Amino acid sequence: MFMRELFKFSLVGLIIVGFLGLNGCAGYPDRVETVKQARDVTIVTSFYPLYIMTLNITKEIPGVNVINLGSPQTGCLHDYQLTPGDMKALEKARILVVNGAGMEPYLDIVHQRRPDLPVIDASQQIRLLKNMDGSEENPHVSVSITGAIQQVKNIGEQLQALDPQFREQYKANTAQYVQSLEALRQKMQQDLEPLPNRNIVTFHQAFTYFAEEFGFEIVAVVEQEAGVEPSATELADTIKLVQNYRVKALFGEPQYSTKVLDAIARETGAKVYVLDPVVTGPNEPDAYIRIMEKNLQVLQEALQ
Ligand SMILES: [Zn+2]
Repeated sequence: MFMRELFKFSLVGLIIVGFLGLNGCAGYPDRVETVKQARDVTIVTSFYPLYIMTLNITKEIPGVNVINLGSPQTGCLHDYQLTPGDMKALEKARILVVNGAGMEPYLDIVHQRRPDLPVIDASQQIRLLKNMDGSEENPHVSVSITGAIQQVKNIGEQLQALDPQFREQYKANTAQYVQSLEALRQKMQQDLEPLPNRNIVTFHQAFTYFAEEFGFEIVAVVEQEAGVEPSATELADTIKLVQNYRVKALFGEPQYSTKVLDAIARETGAKVYVLDPVVTGPNEPDAYIRIMEKNLQVLQEALQ
């Protein structure tokens, strides 16, 4: 099966080469030249939400190939280490798009390996919020729609500068995607505004910007560091907070087990729901918007 596909593919290749060859003989050398120098602009993204943004911003721009590092299940990069596959992708990269704000712990290694590689920092000029304990800046800018819009604008502007041949198309794609995100934000604001319960508990600190944007109060997070289970004391503290603030909904994330949340729910009578910070998902340009629409439904059901 595979061989047949391959054969078909090479046959098409031969026909194209033959056709261009003929044209060359007939006095159109420029066209042959153009094809020889076909553009190959590999843009590597570090993180799923940036990948979705970049797919939208580069829509139908010739020769652009967008690759996301990690596996489809990678999610947040809090202590992510580059794999050999990532290194290979980085070798091919013409441009690297990163979240910044401390999301990528490996940027020094990339810079050592590819000092010439232009890096687009999607979070530049964005006002960053601190984590709940005030220690570090919170990197989950893309989880609020406003943050995502700012990141899309940053990436769009920098791609225009780095690939000026298609400046106008980058500009138009960016404007179009920003418009869709603005419509999403307006719908979410409208539908979330009347919900009576505003106190929530989330799994990790992914929803800080989101809560600020839509006026929710995160009274506790279950795991201070994603992937590190809370101690017995931390768990008891969270249970107390859930009771004191009469929290009705605990929000797990599809990327992590809800085991600890289920335990809190048993102690407090609160219910467990799943809210998606859009750090994994399908490789489709509308994925961010669709996942956020699902989050909207979940919040409406949970906080009624
Ligand atoms: Zn995270």
